[in-house]
Amino acid sequence: MEFALPGATGEAPAERFTGEVWWDAVHSGGEPSRMRANLVRFAPGARTHWHSHALGQSLHVVSGVALIGTRDGVVFAAWPGELVVCPPGEEHWHGAAPDRFMEHLAMWEGTEDGSPGTTWLEPVTDEQYAPARTTSA
Ligand code: MN
Repeated sequence: MEFALPGATGEAPAERFTGEVWWDAVHSGGEPSRMRANLVRFAPGARTHWHSHALGQSLHVVSGVALIGTRDGVVFAAWPGELVVCPPGEEHWHGAAPDRFMEHLAMWEGTEDGSPGTTWLEPVTDEQYAPARTTSA
């Protein structure tokens, strides 16, 4: 049995995120496990760049309202307690609503060197983010 102390919170790299994003690596499984989980906190308006995950990714919303966009222009909203499943290879982004913080637990599989990894693409433009709403109104 092993008890792990939490590592330091890290700031997400600006070349993959827009706005201020911080995370805690909750779990990085050692071989043969490839389980990985990051608790990610997005400032209002912050979001990932477009990207896809080779093996998919699941997002458990902890607080705030999570926005998840796909290439068809749809922006989904997800609330605390809800789970968003991103299928393998599907390009998407996720982030906070414009007016509040958002925190989600990101769960995926990968090795320490990042393979099979996440393919990072271009930033989400303000026009792509604009349809985001915190309510259906
Ligand atoms: Mn993702």
